[in-house]
Amino acid sequence: MTEKEDHRHEMDSQLPEARTEALEDLLVEKGLIDRARIDSLIERFEHDLGPMIGARLVAKAWLEPEFRDRLVADTDQVLQEENVSGAQIEHVEIKANEPGIHNVVVCTLCSCYPWALLGLPPAWYKSPEYRARVVREPRKVLEEMGLSLEAETEIRVWDSSSETRFLVLPERPAGSEHLEIEELAELVTRDSMIGVARAQTP
Ligand code: FE
Repeated sequence: MTEKEDHRHEMDSQLPEARTEALEDLLVEKGLIDRARIDSLIERFEHDLGPMIGARLVAKAWLEPEFRDRLVADTDQVLQEENVSGAQIEHVEIKANEPGIHNVVVCTLCSCYPWALLGLPPAWYKSPEYRARVVREPRKVLEEMGLSLEAETEIRVWDSSSETRFLVLPERPAGSEHLEIEELAELVTRDSMIGVARAQTP
């Protein structure tokens, strides 16, 4: 990694976060904002607004095999066609789960994450424990997070960087054959696109 890339990595996580926290403290101290309200806003961006962009792409990929193939083969091009743009998705690769192969995403160095597809990264994604352990013992970490994989399933861990962000394409759940795109998208959780959960069953 060059010095410049390394620096970009650092800028990614530490500076804006530290500054945001300082700003939040100041605003709370001055009585201008209420911390509970900020938490609820963040919650909404983490779970509802942000991940819906990724969820819709996944649902469309489930419905249209041709779209799925192109999405996996040339994600950047398809994102452009779908008018998906924004923070931290200059280059995205989609890793599709299939029987016997499970993908999970981490950023071991900091907290690189496809913001424009998934919204805000959850706090655990940025934690030193997750970043270190999911590489060393992915099966155990996933188990602890509620995802039990069969012993013969291969787990592939993808380490994000400022150059490449990853999104997991979860498997389409059984019993979802009759659903339309909007209903399918609701089954696609943020965690399933990071690879620490399955898509929900209808
Ligand atoms: Fe990072």
